[in-house]
Amino acid sequence: MNAFVIDAFEFCRLKEQRNGEFPVEALPRLAEESVDRSGSVVWSLQGGKNLHGHPQMALSVSGKIRLLCQRCLTPLDFAIDSGAVLVLAPDEDSADEMDALLADEDVEVIVGSHAFDIRQLVEDEALLTIPLSPRHEACEKRLAVDSVPEVKKESPFAVLKNLKK
Ligand SMILES: [Zn+2]
Repeated sequence: MNAFVIDAFEFCRLKEQRNGEFPVEALPRLAEESVDRSGSVVWSLQGGKNLHGHPQMALSVSGKIRLLCQRCLTPLDFAIDSGAVLVLAPDEDSADEMDALLADEDVEVIVGSHAFDIRQLVEDEALLTIPLSPRHEACEKRLAVDSVPEVKKESPFAVLKNLKK
């Protein structure tokens, strides 16, 4: 049994608190985004309840990961720094109702679980912070890209046109 699987409802009821650190290589989806699987993600999770009495968990994640700059294709140090407040619903239907009730609040409603995987949660949150196309603010190796001839990809429309001929 994974030590990071908790009963999320109990965790909130007992106002438990946990924290830890996952190496990037222990988070496979995050590791895939990284150039060298170095770095780690520090996290903390605090259980409690919101003003409406719903169980809620406050998550924070921070850390460092090396991504690949999409402009110069060299590594880029990226700082992960994020957090979320997750309100637990007992099931999908209640989740929709709670979503409507809490629409104005900066929280996320999720369906809670008695076998809730903290590692997945931390990984999800870290993944959300990663830009789709990471770039240095100012690349040192600009030439790398400028000197590479652009690969011309045929547009799907051009392909269609050729098919019609
Ligand atoms: Zn760059």
